[in-house]
Amino acid sequence: MKVVLASHNKKKMVEMRAILSRMGVEVISQAEVGLDLEPEETGTTFEENARIKAKAVMEASGLPAIADDSGLMVDALGGEPGVYSARYGGEGLDDTGRWQLLLKNMAGQTNRACKFVSVICCAFPDGTELMARGECPGVLAQGPSGDGGFGYDPVFYLPQLGKTMAQLTPEEKNQISHRAQALAGFQIEWEKQHHGTDQ
Ligand code: IMP
Repeated sequence: MKVVLASHNKKKMVEMRAILSRMGVEVISQAEVGLDLEPEETGTTFEENARIKAKAVMEASGLPAIADDSGLMVDALGGEPGVYSARYGGEGLDDTGRWQLLLKNMAGQTNRACKFVSVICCAFPDGTELMARGECPGVLAQGPSGDGGFGYDPVFYLPQLGKTMAQLTPEEKNQISHRAQALAGFQIEWEKQHHGTDQ
């Protein structure tokens, strides 16, 4: 089965393609079906935003469409930046600026528990949808390490591995990440709904 990936984030797309291809799903980009949609993420939950993105691309392409909405939730900040992770600090900041601002806002905080959350939604042309959520717990580091991954990876420390997410190889990240876990749950739902991999 062919599924259009709603995301424009190249690094996120690479991760999703790698994991979905293991499920036998043929992932195609919006560009390959002549689309360039960037629906406004007006939801207040990861679920709402993933659905908004998947449905918009499904309706425009007539094909099943899959979207991930993800972010970092920091306990000491009441779950912020959460669904606003990509927009933390406003338009002017890049990934580095965002994690620098986060470290500044967490200065002096001893509770550095946080988690990455990913919600995957696949919207089908028959009006049905599949949704799955994955979470990866970690600790906000005092400073950055590593140059892999993207977003907040350099400051997301995994105590059990003694490394930040940015110090993992892509394969290692895809074993443990929130996105990998959401996609694993998604695969179970997918198989339950008889969307066989050979259709
Ligand atoms: P979205 O495109 O609205 O889902 O934005 C997700 C944002 O959350 C990204 O721009 C990153 O800032 C952050 N994020 C999501 N997943 C990851 C990840 O795997 N590593 C680092 N940051 C992530």
